[in-house]
Amino acid sequence: MTTPVLLYYDMRMLGHNPHGWDPANPAWTEAVKAMITLQYPGSDLQTYSHPERPDRLTAIVDRLMLEPIEGVRWMLPSAATTAQIERVHDKNYVAKIESLAGESCWLAKDTTAISPGSVEAASLAAGAGISAVEAISGGAARRAFCVLRPPGHHAHSDHASGFCLYNNIAVTAAHARESLGYQRVMIWDWDMHHGNGTQEIFYSDPSVLVVDSHCAAPFYPGSGLLHDTGAGAGVGSQLNVPLPPGSGNAALLKVFDEVVKPAAKAFQPDILLVSSGFDCHYLDMICAMDETGFAILTQRMSDLADELCDGRLVVLLEGGYNAKALADSAHAVVNVLAGIRVNSFNVMPDDPGCAAVADAVQFLKRKGSGKEPPLEN
Ligand SMILES: [Zn+2]
Repeated sequence: MTTPVLLYYDMRMLGHNPHGWDPANPAWTEAVKAMITLQYPGSDLQTYSHPERPDRLTAIVDRLMLEPIEGVRWMLPSAATTAQIERVHDKNYVAKIESLAGESCWLAKDTTAISPGSVEAASLAAGAGISAVEAISGGAARRAFCVLRPPGHHAHSDHASGFCLYNNIAVTAAHARESLGYQRVMIWDWDMHHGNGTQEIFYSDPSVLVVDSHCAAPFYPGSGLLHDTGAGAGVGSQLNVPLPPGSGNAALLKVFDEVVKPAAKAFQPDILLVSSGFDCHYLDMICAMDETGFAILTQRMSDLADELCDGRLVVLLEGGYNAKALADSAHAVVNVLAGIRVNSFNVMPDDPGCAAVADAVQFLKRKGSGKEPPLEN
């Protein structure tokens, strides 16, 4: 039996398409060239397209169109308003981004660049999750997937970073909290990179629990240490699980079973959100998941949402730079959101991430024996 899935996409998000080097910052080009060479071998570096490029989305959309999934309803997102974005971003920063509409420039040395259509795309990306949680709150469906770019989880409250302008999942969580009356929001960020912006925004906020599994420092952005568990009233609401290169499906499933699930049961969220990068796919950078892994993670999250919060689950796209990995993984995730059960998934012998997850669990349980419990014993 299928379940309705709301699928948010707007082709204006393809208008974010930075081109050209920044003549004022020649050193910044080296990082981009390295990533293009890694992700798109054979690219002409003189006529390059930025790594976070429009065909990331068209690859996903084309696959979902060519192999349609019963229950999917295509939806257009509303752009986030300035006030909605300002719930998590500094007013001056939002004004600066809005002033750049129609412009081309580079914003950060870690390769964040914009083109004339980028500000509109970013507002739609920030609004996609809001549209999804509004629709779910109104009873239209229980599951949603947001095909969006630019991604968001590296965007800090007051600056752009790592291809991200607005922190889409933070804007979504804040809307769920402040406009829809959800008391507790839980985020799992399974993108290969640490969601440093999301961590910064909610670090002192006990109403948003963030689990972040990622490739450990010094891999970009170099944050997400095990002992960073929140501050002030938010101590215990950031659970980082740093993983070694080569981590695969078994490691991520262990993150779910031993961190996400027990933390969720203790926290009792009103809605589950996922920062879903697909760059842990073996076709992408240096980890070893595949689409069967993303499918089983989605199934576990769906079952957890059914158990804890009336099924409310919104998955937002973050990174992922290999077109086939993006298309295969997004299709697998939406399939499961639509209610198709998966019975098997691929497991590598000796997944190097499993030991790291076990270490993280031990650490978080030890922390839990103190005043504030990150994980229940
Ligand atoms: Zn990533």
